[in-house]
Amino acid sequence: MAAVNLGLPRSARASGEPRVEGRPDVPGLLDRHGRVARDLRVSVTEKCSLRCTYCMPEEGLPAIPRDELLTPVEIARLVGIGVHDLGIREVRFTGGEPLMRADLAEIIGMTHAAAPAIDISITTNGIGLDHRLPALVAAGLNRVNISLDTVDREHFAALTRRDRLPAVFAGIAAAHAAGLTPLKLNAVMMRQTLAGAPDLLAWALEHGCRLRFIEQMPLDADHSWLRENMVSAEELLAVLRTRFDLVEVGRDDPSAPAEEWLVDGGPSTVGIIASVTRSFCAACDRTRITAEGTVRSCLFGDDETDLRSLLRGGADDPEIARWWRGAMWNKQSGHGMERAGFVPPVRSMGAIGG
Ligand code: SAM
Ligand code: SF4
Repeated sequence: MAAVNLGLPRSARASGEPRVEGRPDVPGLLDRHGRVARDLRVSVTEKCSLRCTYCMPEEGLPAIPRDELLTPVEIARLVGIGVHDLGIREVRFTGGEPLMRADLAEIIGMTHAAAPAIDISITTNGIGLDHRLPALVAAGLNRVNISLDTVDREHFAALTRRDRLPAVFAGIAAAHAAGLTPLKLNAVMMRQTLAGAPDLLAWALEHGCRLRFIEQMPLDADHSWLRENMVSAEELLAVLRTRFDLVEVGRDDPSAPAEEWLVDGGPSTVGIIASVTRSFCAACDRTRITAEGTVRSCLFGDDETDLRSLLRGGADDPEIARWWRGAMWNKQSGHGMERAGFVPPVRSMGAIGG
């Protein structure tokens, strides 16, 4: 049997000099293809309370030793450098499941203190959010995106390998009660849940949530993604149109990944992120930090730059910023899924931070 790659963390030391040949001397996170990254995703853990089949292996990801995870102080310092030296405008904490970190409020609080002017959000599966939200909001959390693929309890349990749909609903209700609106919901389009997509949209509209469907990308730890099995945006639209009238209204802004559709004449919309069939790599403005403190310039690029060893080795802010700029200068032009012989990245989505 072929070995399953669990998306084990790779080590990538920042030694020598960053590769910046041809790079103009500008402060921001510019790449060779003219894009500038301003949107930072920081993964804070590989642990998760669910085991979504498109993301995690059944047994979960191998645990990252505690001393290899960035601490709240280190995370806040990196975000501060990103904001003050590199032009980052928003930060989102993700994972794994960010709520699995007992010190998430500390991470948010320190980040808020290091960069008070920027928006701080989390992407979460919502489980346990009802208990944690007051402390997170008090620490400086501005927004949450909650992942919800189906409102059918059996389908949810099969897709996530956990019967936790009521806990997700409780998390959504808590986010509403805390005034974190409009609440965004993310749904990965899967064949098993496609027939229930209109029910999910109806539920989102009824509960005042902004729903976005995402095409499944080849980022599952089990490497079972197949182009011919994935649900395309076009196929999803056809299913949604059996119940709703949809009119395309375009993107909220040019770098927004979701194309919006007006539902039944509005004012509500539904978003579709067609990462595979209508790639938006040319407008990508993301930069990512993994839970172990490496910069990842693209979900699909395994080249990483280790900022943690710089942090722990006593590097000053300008030195860390220089390596981060170098990492982003070498960002690949696109995910390359359309190429024959495309090979998915070593890390899975849960090990990168989606
Ligand atoms: N655990 C949190 C959650 O589920 O929201 C945060 C981490 S999760 C990796 C971030 C986002 O990535 C979720 O919205 C999830 O649905 C999405 N995701 C995971 N695997 C994916 C895949 N193979 N293709 C597309 N999106 C994926
Ligand atoms: Fe966990 Fe999020 Fe991955 Fe699902 S998508 S397994 S909730 S990290």
